[in-house]
Amino acid sequence: MTTNLASISSPTRATSVVPAPEPDRIDLIGKDMAEFGTIAENLGMPSWRGKQLWGWVYHHRETDFSQMTNLSKDLRNVLDETCVVSRPDVASRHISIDGTVKWLIKFADGNLAETVLIPEADRLTLCISSQVGCTLNCKFCHTGTQKLVRNLTAAEIVGQLMVARDYVASGAPGSEHAHFTAPENGETPDPHRVSNIVMMGMGEPLYNFDNVKKALDIATHNEGVAISKRRVTVSTAGVVPMMERCGTEIGVKLAVSLHAVTDELRDVIVPINRKYPISELLTACRNYPDVRNSRRITFEYILLKGVNDSLADARELVRLIKGIPSKINLIPFNPWPGAPYERSSDKVIEAFAQIVRDAGYPSPVRRPRGEDILAACGQLKSASERQRKSK
Ligand code: SAH
Repeated sequence: MTTNLASISSPTRATSVVPAPEPDRIDLIGKDMAEFGTIAENLGMPSWRGKQLWGWVYHHRETDFSQMTNLSKDLRNVLDETCVVSRPDVASRHISIDGTVKWLIKFADGNLAETVLIPEADRLTLCISSQVGCTLNCKFCHTGTQKLVRNLTAAEIVGQLMVARDYVASGAPGSEHAHFTAPENGETPDPHRVSNIVMMGMGEPLYNFDNVKKALDIATHNEGVAISKRRVTVSTAGVVPMMERCGTEIGVKLAVSLHAVTDELRDVIVPINRKYPISELLTACRNYPDVRNSRRITFEYILLKGVNDSLADARELVRLIKGIPSKINLIPFNPWPGAPYERSSDKVIEAFAQIVRDAGYPSPVRRPRGEDILAACGQLKSASERQRKSK
């Protein structure tokens, strides 16, 4: 993609509007409906008041208790003294010329993670991080080069969503770049609403199952954020023992980062393969609960020049996934400084895609997005840390 530097907005240094939660107050963000009921009861209210509060917090995005007008004044005062509706700090925000928005989010302990908003013709997708850093060390992924790893809490995962929802609802500065041009499925997209979630940011979501589940339950609850489960995708590098639970307990779509068709190569580029080899991974895909055409698995396949991009690889890929209702997302490698790989040429990518399509699988080639703002996984965080160290 050619980048037009002049039209890239400069990173916005934003400070948080809402104060970080004080330890003695209850942060309502990240709490589920049952907890809202308990909190209401503990404050002397009937538990159905918790439902009203839920609507204010998640549906209306209200952070100021005094604005919650269907609650009594006394109640609003009690809430103000005991609770808070937090947002994580935004360390910086970057808007690409293609409309992609990337936030570097700073959590209360100073840790950073990235969140990316991707406007497309018929949807507004938010890519959310599940961990600070990642333990998997996939060779092509920049996040794997970062040392510190911890799970994000449900509040921190939902917090990323709320930051993006505040942004798009506010009229979305930068949304003039968004690509809401040609709805493909007859639905008219609302440019002021995040419509889809992909857990494809930093980290391995199935290594942080409980918090990811809780956060996605909140995001899909129909009286709150109300994003349909059909529009939520969890992406895994292949944590086989957790895949079934992802289907039965979270009930969202699954994407699998396959990236190689032999164990020999996958052992190197996606090292979790040494624990859960391709055959076990594909068996788990075949058994993914409720796999139908509407709930088909997405296989992600990154194209690395001369490594996994031959026509023989494409044919083997088709052979391996035979019988699994699936779609194959071909991802041109997003390079980063010092990366040991290069992106395959467009011609090679197209030839690869043709073989997969001829076999009957939809095979979109993911257009690189936000390259001018370092949107590749983990790049922005590393750049910000380098900057800090050089000061
Ligand atoms: N751990 C999960 C989710 C995070 S990675 C997983 O592995 O699926 C999300 C997707 O981004 C994965 O398919 C990953 O392989 C891909 N990815 C990581 N680094 C990339 C890069 N430099 N270029 C293109 N895709 C990349």
